[in-house]
Parts: sequence; C-alpha cells; structure tokens
Amino acid sequence: MPNASHPLILTLDMQGAPHRWVSWQHACFYYAKNLVAWVAGDHSFTFHGGMSRMTGERSFITVDSIIAIKGRALAPRNHSVVPPLNNRELFHRDRHMCGYCGHEYSFIRLTRDHILPVSQGGRDLWMNVVTACRHCNQKKSSRTPEQAGMELLYAPYVPNKAEFLILCNRHILADQMDFLAQHVSAHSRLKSA
Ligand SMILES: [Zn+2]
Repeated sequence: MPNASHPLILTLDMQGAPHRWVSWQHACFYYAKNLVAWVAGDHSFTFHGGMSRMTGERSFITVDSIIAIKGRALAPRNHSVVPPLNNRELFHRDRHMCGYCGHEYSFIRLTRDHILPVSQGGRDLWMNVVTACRHCNQKKSSRTPEQAGMELLYAPYVPNKAEFLILCNRHILADQMDFLAQHVSAHSRLKSA
C-alpha cells in the first residue's frame, strides 16, 4: 500500500473550481461512494484492497490526480472565499522576502508584521500583514511604516482559493499545478514568478 507521502489529490466542485486537497484514502472513499463526477489530470494511482471472498480476486481502486466531486459531497463551510491566514502560507505568498529590507530568509527568521499594528486597531487579516524579518519587525515595533520611516516594498493581497491551494502544498504534481495556475488571479505574485 502507498504510504502517507503519496501525492495529495486535488478535488474540484462540479463546475471545475478548485476545492481542496484530500488524501488518497479520502479520494478512494469518493470513488467507492460514487461521488466522483469527472476526472482530469495526467496521473492516476492504483490502490489495492483486500481479497474478495466472492471471486477470490484482489480489489483495487484507480484514483486520478484531479477529481470533481458531486455537489452535495462538498460541505458549504469549505467554500469560504478568504483562505485562513497562516505564517507558512503568508511567507510563501511573499516569497520569504522581508517587506522592509527586501532580503530573503528561512522560515524561522521571519515574522508576521501587521502593517497597521494591532495596538493601533490593525486586524489580523491577509490585507494587513506582510512578511518581515525579525530585525525589521523589531525596528518597526508597534508603528505604521510611515511612523517608523520604513518603506513597504510590496503590497499585501488576499490569495484566492487556487493560489492558497498552491501555497499550502509543497508536493504538487505538474498537472495539478497547471490546473491551479489557470485559476490564480492576475495580480498574484505567483504569476510573476
Ligand atoms: Zn528585514
């Protein structure tokens, strides 16, 4: 049986909009319950199950790398427009570049900077945060860039669903990446990568 490091399967809604990543086990569940509406992508994976008592043959399911799930199988709560804000995806959005000094750093040397500081009423939202190195964050302290005399080198933005799916999976298959890239909005920094 494949192990946990197997690629994640990209699920879509019936209209072909990217939905979320699922494990191959979860994808097998969709197939077994006949919830796969159609498939896309260039890869398929065959998983073997147990021996059938009726036929003596080994059961198997073939899972495609991109699958569209029939309507009601997708929970509405997963359809929120704004993806959750996490440091990993934030740093990835900003390409691990500090928004103030412009240098690239590894994950542990980066912080989440609130452009309008929380102490001044700034909120913890994609549009109010950028990646900053520890040094610049300390220097800026609880001030706005203007108050601190520090220029912000790039603008924050809210990644759309497709971009978020790219940001949160480090092991995307080429066909999955091609599919998601078509759904990333034009202002995304991924587009200029
Ligand atoms: Zn910096």
